[in-house]
Amino acid sequence: MIVIMKPSATTANIASVSARIEHFGCRVHLSEGEEHTIIGVIGDVRAIDREQLERMEGVERTVRIQKPFKLAGRDFHPQDTVFTINGKSVGGKQLIIMAGPCAVEGRESLLETAEAVKESGAHVLRGGAFKPRTSPYSFQGLGEEGLRILAEARAQTGLPVITEVMAPEQVPLVASYADILQIGARNMQNYALLHAVGESHHPVMLKRGMMSTIEELLMSAEYILSHGNERVMLCERGIRTFETYTRNTLDINAVPLLKQLTHLPVIVDPSHGTGKWELVAPVSRAAIAAGADGLIIEVHPRPDEAMSDGGQSLKPKRFTELIVSLQPIAEAVGRTVCE
Ligand code: PEP
Ligand code: MN
Repeated sequence: MIVIMKPSATTANIASVSARIEHFGCRVHLSEGEEHTIIGVIGDVRAIDREQLERMEGVERTVRIQKPFKLAGRDFHPQDTVFTINGKSVGGKQLIIMAGPCAVEGRESLLETAEAVKESGAHVLRGGAFKPRTSPYSFQGLGEEGLRILAEARAQTGLPVITEVMAPEQVPLVASYADILQIGARNMQNYALLHAVGESHHPVMLKRGMMSTIEELLMSAEYILSHGNERVMLCERGIRTFETYTRNTLDINAVPLLKQLTHLPVIVDPSHGTGKWELVAPVSRAAIAAGADGLIIEVHPRPDEAMSDGGQSLKPKRFTELIVSLQPIAEAVGRTVCE
């Protein structure tokens, strides 16, 4: 349930309605819009006397929310969520472009890639230090050493860093180096991890599980939001289908659908979504045309030598060409790639 306050409601009115809700054993979550403040009621709303709440000063009406995702849904928070990461805004007119290698493989190559993607116009540097690999014999990432290299690349280029965190106990360590915490597809329903990043003060990018529905993705976002972290981005990275030409099938429907259902920014990962570097540019353009708020793209200076995901990584030159080609598409849908 949500309580929509009148535009004239005072801070004192909001405080008394919140106190009444808490008295019924529920928690409150405030969303301050341009006109109305909306009070989200979290918990067992059956105990709440709606008529009593509606008689309180400053209350316009109460609305029952049928959808299971309450904080992530547009009913509770109609306006787009926009937040900044190191001065770059996410979810507004400006698109956010994140780029870098699948995994941090070493100092030299990461610094080289970081400089290259910055030069092309990327806003955030990506790179995995802890890699969730299908085989335990594959390269698992450099761990903390990889995080140190990412921090050095940030110091050198000024680009904020996004990297994956795989376990709740890793959150403090990864957060001490990274600017954005990435929850990988395989961990979308790792509820202990969602709880832990929900309590952190870092923005989170939550990737859709490869076999997860859109509602499951939103319920996972709900875990993070309900633990107090409001800076959440969702990422469509392709789902498994019967098609075998591509690694995954990028669900382009998910982009406008998520934009309808939720106020959270939506990012698209065309690298994992296709698994083929040749498809990354056209699918990136499709994602922006469909309304995505940004992209996360794998870039490697020598894809043939990459320790993971070389086949879907763009060389820096092709990445630059892609960024240039995105601008007219962005403009056509009222967005911009660069300020
Ligand atoms: C990645 O971003 O490198 C990654 C492992 O992605 P996903 O979790 O989407 O497979
Ligand atoms: Mn990868």
